[in-house]
Amino acid sequence: MEIIVCIKQVPDTEELHKVKINSETRTLIREGIKNIINPFDENAIEEALRLREKIGGRVTVISMGPPQAETSLRKALAMGVDRAILLSDKSFAGSDTLATSYTLAMAIKKLGKFDLILSGKQAIDGDTAQVGPGLAEWLNLPQITYARKIEVNEKKIRAERTLEDSFELVESPLPALITVTKEINEPRYPSLKGVLRARKEKIIIWTAKDLKINEKRTGLEGSATRVIKVFTPPSPSGGEIISGETSKVAENLIKKLEEHRII
Ligand SMILES: Cc1cc2nc3c(=O)[nH]c(=O)nc-3n(C[C@H](O)[C@H](O)[C@H](O)COP(=O)(O)OP(=O)(O)OC[C@H]3O[C@@H](n4cnc5c(N)ncnc54)[C@H](O)[C@@H]3O)c2cc1C
Repeated sequence: MEIIVCIKQVPDTEELHKVKINSETRTLIREGIKNIINPFDENAIEEALRLREKIGGRVTVISMGPPQAETSLRKALAMGVDRAILLSDKSFAGSDTLATSYTLAMAIKKLGKFDLILSGKQAIDGDTAQVGPGLAEWLNLPQITYARKIEVNEKKIRAERTLEDSFELVESPLPALITVTKEINEPRYPSLKGVLRARKEKIIIWTAKDLKINEKRTGLEGSATRVIKVFTPPSPSGGEIISGETSKVAENLIKKLEEHRII
């Protein structure tokens, strides 16, 4: 089975407060910040490795990002994936989700035949959850999002898809794209043997030229959305804290909501 996993390098959650915005391009300044593999993508890598252990095959990870994204690909190699590809080119900078999913689709087309694409449900920085579904559209693939459990047999995949407070069972022919939640598994820690192997492993780097990409469809030029302003919303002022015994507080709250004609 040929399994492809899309991983994004994101600022470490501990360091999000250090993240600055480039006032010209209005994109995140990622240099000088500790970066990690997007946590949901570690679940996607883990699920791919478990499938390979169960039914055999090869696991390839792909990431679009600046050269420093290599560290995240090396961690994926240390976890046990077979191959790592970095899509890196100045022309990719500032890509929104449309441009990002297009660029990833061109790389996957270059890879040729595959059976399954796994991605995280969303990235903890952009938080749009759009790249997975966008990628499935560019590749004209069936997609199942928010999967908390998957089962694969010959030419079909069955998934438990998380809903607000329940789940649905969805089945799809392969090839398909699945986005996973953190409930799906507990990612493994890289073994020492894995870390040593990852140090030596060659990471394949593809530029826009290698992908025969239409440069009008990637980077800022290929992005339908523009971040026009980035600001921290003002914290709400005023308000009143109602304290006391619970039922009294509830009573009090209802009275105030009625007074203000909210209910
Ligand atoms: C604060 C902020 C707000 C933004 N708002 C928007 C917006 O509203 N609309 C918009 O179009 N763009 C937006 N962007 C840009 C957007 O972050 C990038 O386009 C990004 O590459 C993909 O979107 P995402 O981070 O939301 O990823 P999501 O769509 O949440 O990521 C889902 C999954 O797709 C895969 N994936 C995502 N990016 C990559 C990558 N570079 N390489 C490999 N796999 C990847 C991963 O598996 C990930 O788990 C925003 C960026 C920031 C920092």
